[in-house]
Amino acid sequence: MADNSQPADAQLRNGSDLCLACGMCCDGTLFSNARLTRPQKNGAVSLGMRVVDRTDEDGGSTLWFELPCHLHIEGRCSIYDQWRPDICGDYTCGVLDAYLDGSRSLDECVQIVGDVRANAVEAHAAIAAESGGKPPTAPEMLAIAAMDVYRRRYFNKRDKQHSVPD
Ligand code: SF4
Ligand code: SF4
Repeated sequence: MADNSQPADAQLRNGSDLCLACGMCCDGTLFSNARLTRPQKNGAVSLGMRVVDRTDEDGGSTLWFELPCHLHIEGRCSIYDQWRPDICGDYTCGVLDAYLDGSRSLDECVQIVGDVRANAVEAHAAIAAESGGKPPTAPEMLAIAAMDVYRRRYFNKRDKQHSVPD
């Protein structure tokens, strides 16, 4: 049954147009890893994903594959029609949700994606330099802080299925 609380064009949206213009939950722009369930570990390994399976000193366990995903090729998932970890098909971000429920237009969402991607170039370069011992400059610190704001304001939905880049 159609949801008449949504704008008419929102009822036709499936999100693929936005995600094909984005890809930031696969390419390492927004997150450094994505959670796996234990039954999916071997499948992820056989896809060549960089799987991390770690038991912490306090007994907690971590099971994820690292991002960027090598299967994200030319702006899209190269195994879209094949088996993938559940998170690949299940994950939606706040921007996609806003697009699907009609509260943001495609143009608005694409603008957000473009802004984040432009900022991410400087932020990731600064993070990489910092991990090599080079203190970030003031503009670089702003770019790093802006990534956090973008994530919290537009993308995060309090889910713990992805983690931010280190
Ligand atoms: S789910 Fe969100 S972050 Fe992932 S590709 Fe779609 S719009 Fe981009
Ligand atoms: S398998 Fe596809 S959907 Fe999953 S992280 Fe890789 S590129 Fe993205």
